[in-house]
Amino acid sequence: MTLLKSWIETANDPEGPFPLNNLPFGVFSHKGSRPRCCTAIGDKVLDLGGMQRAGLLKPLGLTEPALNGFMEKGPEAWSGLRATLFGFLGEGSEAAGMVAPHLYPQGEVEMHMPFRVAEFTDFYAGRNHAQNVGTMFRGPENALPPNWLHIPIGYNGRASTVVVSGTDITRPVGQTKTPDAEVPSFGPSKRLDIELEMGAVIGQPSEMGRPISVAEADAMIFGYVLLNDWSARDLQAWEYQPLGPFQAKAFATSISPWVVSRAALEPFRRSTPPREKELLPYLAEPGPMLYDIALSVSLLPKGRRTPTTICRTNYAEMYYSAAQQLAHHASSGCAMRVGDLLGSGTISGPEKDSFGSLLELTWGGKEPLEMVDGEERRFIEDGDTLTLHGHAQGDGYRIGFGECAGMIRPAPDFP
Ligand code: CA
Repeated sequence: MTLLKSWIETANDPEGPFPLNNLPFGVFSHKGSRPRCCTAIGDKVLDLGGMQRAGLLKPLGLTEPALNGFMEKGPEAWSGLRATLFGFLGEGSEAAGMVAPHLYPQGEVEMHMPFRVAEFTDFYAGRNHAQNVGTMFRGPENALPPNWLHIPIGYNGRASTVVVSGTDITRPVGQTKTPDAEVPSFGPSKRLDIELEMGAVIGQPSEMGRPISVAEADAMIFGYVLLNDWSARDLQAWEYQPLGPFQAKAFATSISPWVVSRAALEPFRRSTPPREKELLPYLAEPGPMLYDIALSVSLLPKGRRTPTTICRTNYAEMYYSAAQQLAHHASSGCAMRVGDLLGSGTISGPEKDSFGSLLELTWGGKEPLEMVDGEERRFIEDGDTLTLHGHAQGDGYRIGFGECAGMIRPAPDFP
């Protein structure tokens, strides 16, 4: 696969995030207009809702302020729209004159939540992250729980606080207890952190009581987003036993505004790493189910101009794929819904500068990170902005995800 050329010149930049090969889906508004579905091409947003209203596209739910209606139409509709857009936007297209009125400069639009999150499940499927966090919380001998190499473990999170990139995040307040304190206390988290993850967006439902194969699960995935699973480590350390994260994660999860389709990522499929323990047959993958997606995180301290890149890693570092996680999720008979969001788990590479959380990067706050302007960070401070970036690198083109950013506001006064 090489660059597919478009008559929109900015889409042909080999380092641009949105060539014709990509066509990610999102929801936008322009100068206060009603939000509707769109795609990105070069430095423009293409108003798919407006094109549907003008009769240029079939009724596919694109005038809605969320992608859920379009996702419900199913995989044939998804690939059909992609093929239609190739025709409209490809170099030499005779439809350019009809399409042009539906283009808006990206700098003029507001991006909204791309879909209504039905439910949010977060996994713990990165080998290096589980090893690192387990070592800090339980010691190196007990780092990996006994089930870890057999089950993609996860917990049911909150859909209500999944927000789009650019939304400010309020520092959570909660109950904590340091090891040397006799009683717990209540107040703002002092160990606020990120988790660099990818989110799989489920575009087709499954029936309650009916397990699905990994292949079926893969076909149900509409696309992927960048996902920051904000985490309060001090709340987490006190509350997590024996049921896992609760309030430490419930206050916010940020996602990128663009959902990159499975079709756009097809050339970047990679196999999961070699199994350390053979998996049970229901988790067997029929083919490569991970993707080669370069990921990074930057931290911009309050009042500063230059962000510091604090981590570089790759989605292919995961031990379990989203398709395996989804198949496991449905295996008990749990029904999956259109708009379900599955967090991959923190994506940490093997090296110190490839860890996907501050907890790991500063080893529990013991080894502060130095910012380019001389400040130090152990955990996130008020006014800091954390931004996730991601792209797949093709032959002369890139599939970009845009960015997933959030700034931390001070904790509220508690009555
Ligand atoms: Ca997580």
